Amino acid sequence: MKKASKPEPFRIKMAEPIKLISKEERESALKRAGYNVFALKAEEVFIDLLTDSGTGAMSDNQWSGMMLGDESYAGSKNFLHLTDTCQEIFNYKYFIPTHQGRGAEKVLFPALINKPGQYVLSNMHFDTTKAHVELAHARAIDCVIEEAFDTASYHPFKGNVDIKKMERFIKEKGSENIAFIIITITCNSAGGQPVSMKNIKETSHLAKKYGIRVFLDAARFAENAYFIKTREEGYNNKTIKEIVQEMFSYADGFTMSAKKDAIVNIGGLIGIKDNEELYHQACSNLVPLEGFITYGGLAGRDMEAIARGLKEGIDFDYLEYRIAQVEYLGDILKDAGIPIQYPTGGHAVFVDAKKMLPHIPYYQFPAQVLTNELYLQSGVRAVEVGSLMLGRDPDTGEQLESDFEFLRLTIPRRVYTNNHMDYVAQGLIDVSKRSETLKGLEFVYEPKILRHFTARLKPVE
Ligand SMILES: *Cc1c(COP(=O)(O)O)cnc(C)c1O
Repeated sequence: MKKASKPEPFRIKMAEPIKLISKEERESALKRAGYNVFALKAEEVFIDLLTDSGTGAMSDNQWSGMMLGDESYAGSKNFLHLTDTCQEIFNYKYFIPTHQGRGAEKVLFPALINKPGQYVLSNMHFDTTKAHVELAHARAIDCVIEEAFDTASYHPFKGNVDIKKMERFIKEKGSENIAFIIITITCNSAGGQPVSMKNIKETSHLAKKYGIRVFLDAARFAENAYFIKTREEGYNNKTIKEIVQEMFSYADGFTMSAKKDAIVNIGGLIGIKDNEELYHQACSNLVPLEGFITYGGLAGRDMEAIARGLKEGIDFDYLEYRIAQVEYLGDILKDAGIPIQYPTGGHAVFVDAKKMLPHIPYYQFPAQVLTNELYLQSGVRAVEVGSLMLGRDPDTGEQLESDFEFLRLTIPRRVYTNNHMDYVAQGLIDVSKRSETLKGLEFVYEPKILRHFTARLKPVE
């Protein structure tokens, strides 16, 4: 038994059966998939920890809200409910719905990048965020603190911006060449690691000093607030909503994938604190790309589910259960000697495949090897976050070496129980016992852009 934790603060009143196919079936499925779990059929997976994006279980309250969808093209009451809810939670003036997070990026970023060759600074850019920065002809620079790269040692806020590093960069390039700063909360790419309130505030001060605007990539804003409440001095007695309002007060706006902390299957948002001109610019990008300003690519019922999900996502009891489940899985693995990004963050356990498979070099994708082996062992689908995902240098064509080689066990919200977590852990522990026998991978087919989704691989001879 792991340490006693509070039971789930919900009852499960609908069940979706899942099935473990046989070892032989898993072997042939993985071969057919080109050793890339993205090409598996979902039915070939027993426990799916590919992503926490759009995979959460909506509540009875959200589902009943979906029946109240007002599908009017303009002025839907669900849009008004969504914007009222957002105003109450974030305390901003303007909100724009989008079909998902990347839609928000596609709409907002070109309104912020005003000449070619500019830079966008972040703790760490998420992959679609980086792609949209580059599509808008700017370059994405990461300035996360060094502690993020040392997976074994404890730091309460490994997602923090390295303020000194960021300031050096601004001085070197000139503030007029910085389009904006975007802080990812929690910092997905570093392991779902939180950013402290102090750090958000200091980044905001730095930005003000140089006349640069600050935005939040706010997919996991509620999980970040939970970590501030439980790990940062002075916040223990504040509510999640109060913490959220303070976090957002330091920024000029945000982009958000609602598929994470808002616990919906599809949706996104842009928030703008008070800049009317920027709001109008974003609206004129929105209409041709996503849809009219009162639906932004979503059905009325989807907006209702987001409005209700945002409130459920900031509920303390829910967050306590959520973060405890991630920690539960992390603790079992850590106790069994499996190297993980420590402490565990918000939405996933990140296993350090570089340490687990030191004999496989980055260009043979150790974390992908581990992902495949875990699927073969137990039918669990994880995902690689490492050199396979990173890709090649666009100028030289060389394979880049990622700072991390992570196997990410991403936990959907309100979907799996801790029995599922025990099973996942056991599978990985079994794999670890034969880790030195595992072989690297090479390409059979390598697409040019975002290759990890559709690449085909085979084990090296
Ligand atoms: C998921 C995510 C996005 C992109 O959102 P989508 O809804 O998948 O388009 C952007 N940033 C972060 C940090 C994310 O986790």
